[in-house]
Amino acid sequence: TALVTIYNINKVYSKGQVKTHALHNISLSINKGEFISISGPSGCGKSTLLSILGLLDTPTNGSYQLANIDTHQLKVDQRSQVRNKHIGYVFQSFNLIDSLTVFENVALPLEHRGMPHADIKAAVEKQLSAVNMDGRLAHKPSQLSGGQQQRVAIARALVGNPDLLLVDEPTGNLDSQNGDAVMQLLKTLNENGATVIMVTHDERYSQMARRQIRLFDGKILVEHKEAVA
Ligand code: ADP
Ligand code: ADP
Repeated sequence: TALVTIYNINKVYSKGQVKTHALHNISLSINKGEFISISGPSGCGKSTLLSILGLLDTPTNGSYQLANIDTHQLKVDQRSQVRNKHIGYVFQSFNLIDSLTVFENVALPLEHRGMPHADIKAAVEKQLSAVNMDGRLAHKPSQLSGGQQQRVAIARALVGNPDLLLVDEPTGNLDSQNGDAVMQLLKTLNENGATVIMVTHDERYSQMARRQIRLFDGKILVEHKEAVA
């Protein structure tokens, strides 16, 4: 069964008299284990779609089922609970907390859950090892390269074992070498079981996903799915 089912999603932003129809009747079904890229020109609705999938924003109409939960029925506090349990989110600008160490940044989502300290330590060290950052536990984000910061941000997003990893322009602030390394990491994490949905305007990186969705003017223009070998 599908992990994500969205059906006829529309998003209209209204500001006074100005309305922007950012998404038009988007329907998608996403299974566990997929690696999907969402690409298209600036303003086509990529971030809007990702924010809706991440429960950071709500559609104007249409339905969204996540892990058999009808997200429309959720109250505000339930939405954030569902988000914390099921979704890991990675931003273009890393969004790490500069005053905390690498270890503390990755531990944060588990501390919010009230996990025992020993379990947090084990989970954080395991996750930082999975992104090849286990040698930098006591560093502050400012002491790391952009690529290393993004790997820590990916560890923070995955440490709570979310069903869905949502990644918004992960390479947007990186040079090509660091960008390639972050993409390779996402590919490996997917091969090890993570379900990944990534927004990118970089054609080269969108082609690394097994399923590629291209948006134009808030609509799905084309969808390409890698043939099963
Ligand atoms: P992309 O991520 O592909 O660049 P966005 O999802 O950010 O596209 O934006 C899609 C459209 O919706 C654009 O026309 C954008 O200007 C508009 N838009 C996005 N966010 C808002 C907002 N908070 N208020 C009003 N319009 C918005
Ligand atoms: P990106 O393409 O990197 O997502 P955008 O410029 O589309 O960058 O959007 C950056 C932020 O500004 C997003 O949070 C988006 O929702 C918001 N935004 C985009 N367009 C508008 C707009 N016309 N009015 C208000 N907020 C907007």
